[in-house]
Amino acid sequence: MTHSTDILVLGAGYAGLTAAALLAHEGRAVTVLEGHDTLGGCASFFRVGGYTFDVGATTFSGVLPSQPAGRVFAHLGLKPELVKQDPGMLIRMRDRDVVRYAEPERWINEIARHFPHGDQRGYWKKQYDLERRVWSMVNDQPSLPPTTIRDWLAMVNVRSIKQLPLLPGLFSSAASMMCRYRVDSDVSFVEFINEQLLISTQNTADKAPYLTSAMGLTYPSETYYPMGGMYRPALMLMRHATAHGAQMKFRRTVLSIEQQSSGRWSVTCANGETYEASTIISSIPIWNMPDLLSGKPQRYFERQSTHNPDSWCAFSMYFALEGVPQLSSQYVQLHLDRSIPGVHASSVFLTFSHPDDREKAPLGHTTVTVSTHTRSEDWKGLTPTQHDDKRSMIMNAVMDVIQRRMPECSGLTPLILQGGTPHTWERYTGRKNGFVGGLPHSIKRPMVFMPPNQTPFRGLYMIGDSVFPGQGTPAVMLGAWNTVNRIFAT
Ligand SMILES: Cc1cc2nc3c(=O)[nH]c(=O)nc-3n(C[C@H](O)[C@H](O)[C@H](O)COP(=O)(O)OP(=O)(O)OC[C@H]3O[C@@H](n4cnc5c(N)ncnc54)[C@H](O)[C@@H]3O)c2cc1C
Repeated sequence: MTHSTDILVLGAGYAGLTAAALLAHEGRAVTVLEGHDTLGGCASFFRVGGYTFDVGATTFSGVLPSQPAGRVFAHLGLKPELVKQDPGMLIRMRDRDVVRYAEPERWINEIARHFPHGDQRGYWKKQYDLERRVWSMVNDQPSLPPTTIRDWLAMVNVRSIKQLPLLPGLFSSAASMMCRYRVDSDVSFVEFINEQLLISTQNTADKAPYLTSAMGLTYPSETYYPMGGMYRPALMLMRHATAHGAQMKFRRTVLSIEQQSSGRWSVTCANGETYEASTIISSIPIWNMPDLLSGKPQRYFERQSTHNPDSWCAFSMYFALEGVPQLSSQYVQLHLDRSIPGVHASSVFLTFSHPDDREKAPLGHTTVTVSTHTRSEDWKGLTPTQHDDKRSMIMNAVMDVIQRRMPECSGLTPLILQGGTPHTWERYTGRKNGFVGGLPHSIKRPMVFMPPNQTPFRGLYMIGDSVFPGQGTPAVMLGAWNTVNRIFAT
C-alpha cells in the first residue's frame, strides 16, 4: 500500500519532532516514520514498576529566547515544565566537591577557590563572552554550513563580517585557551575541564575547539530539569504536530529510500508499507544511511561515514531508590577513583529524579539514570554470555563507586537495576554500532565541516546529531529549524 504526502520526516527524536512540529505549524502535510513504538530516541524513556526512567539525555539547555530550543518553543507557543537547576551540577572529584553554581560570578568564585592557579577569572569571563557570541552567530547564520551559491550569498552581510574574528576558535583547541590564561598548570583542573567537555563537546580539551567548548563549559549556568522526563517537551512537540495535521507512524522501520525518475522520493518500511513524498528530512544517522540507499546517494553517505568514522557509544544504568537523597543538584558528575575496563571516561554522570517529580517516582522514591562513555569495538565479537558478563562487571563497578562515594545514597536500597550497552542502544534507537552522542566536536573537523543539512540530492535533507551542528537537544533543534527554513525558502 502506498501513502503519499508532501514531506516525510524519518525518526521521532528531538530533531524529527522539531521539524515535524515546525512544518505542520505552517500547514505543510507531513508524516513522521519512527521505527520504535514510542518517541524520543536518545531522549526517550521507559517505565517499569511504577517508575519512569530517562534512557539517555536528561539535562535540558538552550532554552533562553536567543537559543535554539527557546526559539522553537516560543515560535510554537509551547511552555514545557522546566525547572532551572542552581546549582546546575555537582562535580564530585576524587578529593573535592565542586558546586557548579548557575550564577556566573558565584561560579567563578567557586572555581577560583578550588583552582587558584593562573587567571581563572579572566578564563571564565572569556568562556561566557564566547558562549554569548557563538549563540548569536549560529542564530544569525541559518545557511551554515554553506553548500550552495545562495548560502554563500546569504552569508555576505555586515553581521558575518563582525563574526569573522570568532572563526579561529573553531580551529584552536580548548587547551590552547587554557594555556593563554595559565590555568592549565594544575592537573586536577585539566581533568575537571576534560570530563566537563566529554559530556558536552564529546571531546577532551586538546582536541575540542575552544569556541564550541565555551558552550559546553558554560551550559550548566542554564540547565533545566524537565519535569516528568526528558521526553515530555518532545511529547509537546509531537502533540503540536499532530494537532496541526501531522501523521505520526510508529513501528515503521525504514528499510529503503529511493528517488524515482519523477524526482519524488519513495520510502519502504519493514511492515511492507511504502510512502512517497517530494521531500525527505531524515534524522537517521549518517552511518545508517548507506544501507538504506543505492547509487549516488549511497556513495555520498559512504563518503560521509568514512570522513566521520568516530562516534562514542554509551553505557547506561537505571535504578530506583526507596528514599530521597539530599543533593544540591539533580545532576552529579562523579569522577572515578579507579578506571573501569570498557569505560572510556574518568567519570559517570548521574541524574536523580526531582523530589516533586511524581511521574518519575512515587512520593519518597527516586529514579537514577547513569551514563558514561564506551566504545563500539569493546562490545564486538562477544558471545551473549561474554556480553552479559561484561555488562554485569561494569554495573557492579559503577554501583560500587556510587556506594562508596555517594554517602547521600547510603542506606537506600537500589531497586530494578538495569544496564544498557551499545547493543541495547542499537536495538532501541536503530543507530548503527550503537553510535550515540553525535559527532564529537574537533579542531580537525570543526562544526562547519560536519555533514551539512542540505544534501546534493534535491529534496533530501539531513538533521539530527550526526550532521551540523552536532549533538545535544538544542543543537538538533537548531538543525531542524534551519532545515525547515531552507525548505520554506525553496
Ligand atoms: C547517554 C546519553 C546522554 C545524553 N545526555 C544529554 C543531555 O543531558 N542533554 C542533551 O541535550 N543531550 C544529551 N544527549 C544527546 C542527545 O540525546 C542527542 O543528541 C539527541 O537526543 C539526538 O536526537 P536525534 O533526533 O538527532 O536522534 P535520536 O534521538 O537518535 O532520534 C532518531 C530517531 O530515529 C529513529 N530511527 C532510527 N533509524 C530508523 C529507521 N531506519 N526507521 C525509522 N526510524 C528510525 C530512532 O528510533 C529514533 O527515535 C545524550 C545522549 C546520550 C546517548
